[in-house]
Amino acid sequence: MSAYYYSGCPDNYEAHYLDSCSVCGKSLHNSDIFMYRGNTPFCSKECRQEQMELDEAREKKLKSGRSIRKSDSKSSATNKAVRTGVVTVS
Ligand SMILES: [Zn+2]
Repeated sequence: MSAYYYSGCPDNYEAHYLDSCSVCGKSLHNSDIFMYRGNTPFCSKECRQEQMELDEAREKKLKSGRSIRKSDSKSSATNKAVRTGVVTVS
């Protein structure tokens, strides 16, 4: 469990450690972690999908404001079964 590093993004998401699902709060110990945008962990694709949909809705509202386009690809350097593969096309 030493490969994790937490890059805080206080304005963006609540600070979650990578040990519980960001949506349902389920413990992620001994299970796969589904990452989203480099810093938000989920217990399942379903939970991740839920967050994605929330974010999509929010991003549409924010579209007229500042640009939040940012690459998180460097954050996927963990050696666990982390699945990224979330591409937000805007
Ligand atoms: Zn969950």
